Amino acid sequence: MRRPIIAGNWKMNMTREEAENLILDLIPKVVDAECDVVICPPACFLETAGRLIKKTNIRLGCQNVHWADKGAFTGEISAAMLKSLNVEYAIIGHSERRQYFGETDELVNSKVIKALQNGITPIICVGESLDQRRAGETDEWVRSQVRGALKGLSAFEVQSLVIAYEPIWAIGTGVTATSEQAGETIGVIRTAVKELFDEFTADKIRIQYGGSMNPGNAKELMSMPGIDGGLIGGASLKADDFAAVVLYSK
Ligand code: PEP
Repeated sequence: MRRPIIAGNWKMNMTREEAENLILDLIPKVVDAECDVVICPPACFLETAGRLIKKTNIRLGCQNVHWADKGAFTGEISAAMLKSLNVEYAIIGHSERRQYFGETDELVNSKVIKALQNGITPIICVGESLDQRRAGETDEWVRSQVRGALKGLSAFEVQSLVIAYEPIWAIGTGVTATSEQAGETIGVIRTAVKELFDEFTADKIRIQYGGSMNPGNAKELMSMPGIDGGLIGGASLKADDFAAVVLYSK
């Protein structure tokens, strides 16, 4: 049995005070969660968030990580720095990073390797554009993203990580993939992992859905057998909404 994981990607939102209030509001609401609950605040609030969620069932994640150990990379943050703030998860290869910051599968792969070397669990994002879906290219595209992201990893490493299937056309748009679309593409991803590694690894890896998931659609999406939780953007900025999604995940 895979334990579901719900992660909130706050993106570039919230002031420090808002972040503190959101976390304090959220803590009692998710105390009975039967899944892993992760919040991924902006990097400048990781320390504050880490302090507030200490001794709770909420885990800390970040939205990006650099691929090098350290050095002359102005503005960047290393995996070791994140680890020292008790970060346990790192979103890697989000479509916004791929689109606005030119992140390629190769770069995603180096970031995944660096996170794992530092004991941080990657949440690797993959997903197709609307044009690709309309052209029937979804399966081959996500397969190639998975191949690229997992290159050089051992089966053991892959078993521990998380993949988020996030169709780009569903992110922040209010348009959600149907549970059939999400389930089908997540099935393609799991089969790709099986072909690259083995059946045991494919059974172990957790695959989330992400893209306008909210309290109104979470239950149906998460009832699909292959969907192991969600990566939540907009709805993670409201404690009630995020908690409702978390509590649907059993
Ligand atoms: C995301 O950014 O990963 C995401 C899924 O955003 P939203 O839930 O707002 O579509």
